[in-house]
Amino acid sequence: MAEVSSGDLTSKENIRLMVEGKLSPEIADKLRRMSIKEEDRFWKYMEVLQEKVGFQEQMLLRLSDHLYIVARDGERIVKCDCGHEFGDYRINWKLNSLVRTRKTSEEMKEVYPVLPKKMPYPEEGLVEIREFYCPGCLAQLAVELVPLGYPATFEILPDLDSFYREWLGQPLPDECPEWFQDRTAEEISHWIVES
Ligand SMILES: [Zn+2]
Repeated sequence: MAEVSSGDLTSKENIRLMVEGKLSPEIADKLRRMSIKEEDRFWKYMEVLQEKVGFQEQMLLRLSDHLYIVARDGERIVKCDCGHEFGDYRINWKLNSLVRTRKTSEEMKEVYPVLPKKMPYPEEGLVEIREFYCPGCLAQLAVELVPLGYPATFEILPDLDSFYREWLGQPLPDECPEWFQDRTAEEISHWIVES
């Protein structure tokens, strides 16, 4: 565990240690309990993340351990920290990932812990487990357990314009109501036409 000074709780270095899981629990707890949050906390966090990934495009938001929404040439796209791009962030990135499904009891038990007798496992024929992987680096990006045939869950479609304008006080230069629209169904409709 790295040593950190409690003198400057909200330093960029502490935020970097927190992102890397190396910040001491005591300091993390103090940060969490601060009654007045620093206004530039988000920007420091984004700076730390931007320095950790290998690409130059402006990061707009972190979606998960590996995925980010970035601005690139007038677009807002989902990008993995390995550099792989999933396209327009308004389309569920899962549609452009590698998918492994587990449908049989045997397949599902491989990833379930040994449960007490009365605790049921997911039932074969009713549900399936889907694992989503990055085509670029094969990192596991998400897992969902859903009824058979259920659409891939769209975990987050952030209203970036409102977030930057109303919460951060720094509106994005390309604000437009069309950014906050789920385009997933539209994307799938093209698949149907083309097939
Ligand atoms: Zn990747």
